[in-house]
Amino acid sequence: MKQAWILSGVLDQIRNEAESKTPLETGGLLLGYWSADNNNVVITDMVGPGPLAKHRKFTYKPDYSFHQQEMKRIFNENGGMSTYLGDWHSHPIMLVLGGTDKDDFTEWTPEIWMISPQLSIFPWLRWDYVSLKVNMFDQLCCSKKSSHFV
Ligand SMILES: [Zn+2]
Repeated sequence: MKQAWILSGVLDQIRNEAESKTPLETGGLLLGYWSADNNNVVITDMVGPGPLAKHRKFTYKPDYSFHQQEMKRIFNENGGMSTYLGDWHSHPIMLVLGGTDKDDFTEWTPEIWMISPQLSIFPWLRWDYVSLKVNMFDQLCCSKKSSHFV
């Protein structure tokens, strides 16, 4: 099974950035490298949204020139070890398409998670990602006001 490794300090930086913008969305870049056998991805750095980023409740627009500049800086600082791996966003609900390599195409499977409070014997709330079963339907029925899937 493939594994992801993330420096705890990097995860703290992401959490702090998300916490500072909530309830608005924020995001940034994940940098790092893949192991030689391609089984482990190591996240060594994050880049925040940037000073000119725009944050809304359900969207975020990065400060692209800040991202370029930070990627260059990190790449140079660690001798070219860490390069762009992907993006991170803070979302109440997220959908990710997971790609599986087939012979001559990639099969994309949707996964959807939401954050939900977990029941616990302890008096404090614990929040967790809950995976949702993804169902597909072909069209909406009726008026916009009472739209539902058929
Ligand atoms: Zn987003």
